[in-house]
Amino acid sequence: MEEAFLPSVSEELFKPLEVWFAEAGEKPYRFRQLLDWYFKRPEVANFQELANFPKALREKLEQNFAFLSLSLEEAKLAPDGSKKQTMLLRDGLVTETVTMPMEGHTTVCLSTQVGCPVGCRFCFSGRHGLKRNLTAGEMCDSLRCSLPASGAESLNLVIMGMGEPFYNYEALKKFLFICKEGFGIGSRRVTVSTVGVIAGIERFAADFPQMNLAVSLHAPIEELRKKLIPRAPSEIRELIPALKKYFAATKRLVTFEYAMIKGVNDSAKEAKELCALLSGFDCKINLIPLNDVPGGEFQPSAKETLERFVNYLKERDMNVTVRKSLGGTVGGACGQLADKRNN
Ligand code: SF4
Repeated sequence: MEEAFLPSVSEELFKPLEVWFAEAGEKPYRFRQLLDWYFKRPEVANFQELANFPKALREKLEQNFAFLSLSLEEAKLAPDGSKKQTMLLRDGLVTETVTMPMEGHTTVCLSTQVGCPVGCRFCFSGRHGLKRNLTAGEMCDSLRCSLPASGAESLNLVIMGMGEPFYNYEALKKFLFICKEGFGIGSRRVTVSTVGVIAGIERFAADFPQMNLAVSLHAPIEELRKKLIPRAPSEIRELIPALKKYFAATKRLVTFEYAMIKGVNDSAKEAKELCALLSGFDCKINLIPLNDVPGGEFQPSAKETLERFVNYLKERDMNVTVRKSLGGTVGGACGQLADKRNN
């Protein structure tokens, strides 16, 4: 029989908690105070620490709710300053986030699923398939446990961790709403990365037109992309028109992510095909040096190959950047998130 858990504070957009305060005859300001503790004091992790609440109320809350839906188990700091947080969910599975210091801000990379159904061949997170979706409350709690000391004001949020966000759209939507209304993260500071779920792209454009969209492309032609992403949710020939429509509707530049893989997608031929595919489309290309994953079948492109690829694109006026890889020494870089308890 499945174990029943008390609802957590952030569950279902805090609704059960709000209803409980009203039914228990508590003053409405107590609910607002609790939200302040939740959003503004991330170091607080249980009801007993709510210093301005009477003891009896703290105990009643404890009997009816869990303060968090997960517990921070470990935070591993890498020499480059990034930090991987491992959080234990109540069913024994694990979610991970990575906090990366950048110039003038901190970026937090968050997961939306435990495991991933897409199974990109160069990614460790998807190797054992999907275990389950995260709830909106679990995403809120994992963000809360990953906030830097400077708070949410100077935070960039990237939804690029474990999972395909648009396969968990309803929970993602609730979570993104709370990011703005609760944590106070501006829409333009949020980027969601998809491997190409077209229905999700359409909904995202309508629901969050000011947020940013990144798309994992990794190959400029269908045959090669299929080899790297065997369960890609869409083909290039349908994906690019959908993204052009997205740009027309939102005026937000799409970022194409392209993992640079030695001898697979990094030759002059692929650079030429990439230019042909994206020329005339106002977008960005972000080249990602491939990260080591246990038992990985691919190697990262050599530095000179990467430079040649970048130069080829730049000479043809493509808007191209190379992602700085952070967190690799603690298993927190792109494609590396995968705790063995999720296998
Ligand atoms: S790269 Fe992203 S979409 Fe692909 S398997 Fe990994 S987590 Fe899933």
